Amino acid sequence: MTKKKQTQTPLSGDRLIDTLFRVILDTLNREIEAIRVKKVLRNSSRKELFGLLTEGKIYLGKRMHASQKHPLVAGLIHELLHAAFEDSVSERRILALENILLCRLTDAQKRHLRRYIPTHEVKKDPK
Ligand SMILES: [Zn+2]
Repeated sequence: MTKKKQTQTPLSGDRLIDTLFRVILDTLNREIEAIRVKKVLRNSSRKELFGLLTEGKIYLGKRMHASQKHPLVAGLIHELLHAAFEDSVSERRILALENILLCRLTDAQKRHLRRYIPTHEVKKDPK
């Protein structure tokens, strides 16, 4: 029996965290594509956005303050949580879940997620 190493999902050993990790991975594999754009994304009040989810695509913009506090993978996690829970969960709880996952996912789990983030940026604008 051979196992394909690259398709194994890295786990943390914490069942709750791993279940949430699988939820966002399932969401990502189901219908979501990550796109990196060249500019800073903003909402209608000009506030900088970490990411934007629209029509099955997650747009990750440039960081205005290039902060390590909010890396691209955090934006991906955030938007995937929105996609997984749709409108039933408030922004505040999505932010709380994002923070918990950022603290508790292992480096291997974060690396696994980063593989879905393109290395190059495109000019394409979110619709
Ligand atoms: Zn949000």
